[in-house]
Amino acid sequence: MKIIKRLTFLFLMILSFIACAQNTSKVDYFASNALGNPVTGNAGEYYKGVTYVSYQGALEDPYVAAYDHKTKTWVGPFKAGTSLMGKDKSRKIDNHGKPTLVIDKEGYIHIVFGGHGGTPDIGKNPLGNYHYGKQMHVVSKKPLDISSWEVLDNISPFGTYSQFIKMDNGDLYLFYRHGAHRSDYVFQKSVDNGKTFSAPISILKSKKIKGTAENPVIYDSWYPHFSKGKNYDIIVAYNYHVCKGPKHDGERQNVYYMSFDTNKNEWYNVKNQKLTLPITKEVADLSTLVYNTGDLWTHNGHATIDKNRIPHVTSYEGKYDGTVHGGPKSLKHYYWSGKKWIKSKSKGLPIGAKGDIIVNSSKEILLLVRYKEDDFGMLAWWKSNNGGKSFYKKEVLLKESKANYSLSNFITNANPEAQILVAEKNNEAKAKVYIFGENGAVKR
Ligand code: ZN
Repeated sequence: MKIIKRLTFLFLMILSFIACAQNTSKVDYFASNALGNPVTGNAGEYYKGVTYVSYQGALEDPYVAAYDHKTKTWVGPFKAGTSLMGKDKSRKIDNHGKPTLVIDKEGYIHIVFGGHGGTPDIGKNPLGNYHYGKQMHVVSKKPLDISSWEVLDNISPFGTYSQFIKMDNGDLYLFYRHGAHRSDYVFQKSVDNGKTFSAPISILKSKKIKGTAENPVIYDSWYPHFSKGKNYDIIVAYNYHVCKGPKHDGERQNVYYMSFDTNKNEWYNVKNQKLTLPITKEVADLSTLVYNTGDLWTHNGHATIDKNRIPHVTSYEGKYDGTVHGGPKSLKHYYWSGKKWIKSKSKGLPIGAKGDIIVNSSKEILLLVRYKEDDFGMLAWWKSNNGGKSFYKKEVLLKESKANYSLSNFITNANPEAQILVAEKNNEAKAKVYIFGENGAVKR
């Protein structure tokens, strides 16, 4: 009897040792083959118990992985398609064709990737100019199965910065710039789970304007960010790019906001006045301006709606320092008072902080941002309890020497365990990719 007891005890010890070893062998990241600046925008979705995510991997091809929250197991990453970019070793990593992911009503997973405006050999671009790559659409062969994919030839090849948004009724909207800088920003809509799409519709107009002696060629150009708003709305935070030639630089100005009622198929400014597409610079300035940034240069941020249906917009703003992108920028927060846009003081935030925003109330604002602190790459929650007057560092999720991070938007319909996709930046397809949620990293 004693021997059996001892053997049982020994057996249990071994089991617990194995369990312990398995547990400690887990790592925070789920993949380590991401390339360049690997993650963008709407790159992940939670659907029926599983979080699906996509990122740019080796040779700039899109990769997809999935995490089952019930069984706590990972699947993938699998290569979902083949980009035309990333194969010519004489070129720099392009990074414009990072994948966007959406799941249709039947459970098929869609990825759009690989575009940086296309090239003239693909055909004539009726809405802009060319640069590189080809916007491509792939769909999973089976619902909820990321292991095999097929190419669908049903969207414009002249896309870049591709972004999917799914509405509650299952309609899919694909937003992108229809070519290189001198191109309209457009959307295509699908009402049949991505089998067919409408022709591209121009939202923001790129047009040639009067040049200067230094730059005889100047075009209006745009950088919008699209998010799901209340009910049927898609909301847009955007800025304006002065696309100059031949002395081209990254000058971008101002902060703008508008919304798209997808049910009525109408566009509105914040005062609920109807807008006619495409929006020109003149109309944008007159009807949709949040803030005129003057001499400051900007990067566009995000728009979100709080529980009281008040729009909030972020923007990144900094003094022009003579470099091609204008120098370091600081995150600024704006909200609509009902009568005018109010710019918060946004004190305390580190310079260069960039990320997504959650507004819980008129006082409580959360930012999940990446930035540099001394020599460390940081990913951290910052919080304001006074409506954006000041922020404090709430929780650090990642801190690594010399690291640089790339963030998605908050994952669509996110499970609290898996709120955001994060990757290191790395030029050798060795970058670690993480999902973070309320319990920290989703381990593997
Ligand atoms: Zn330009």
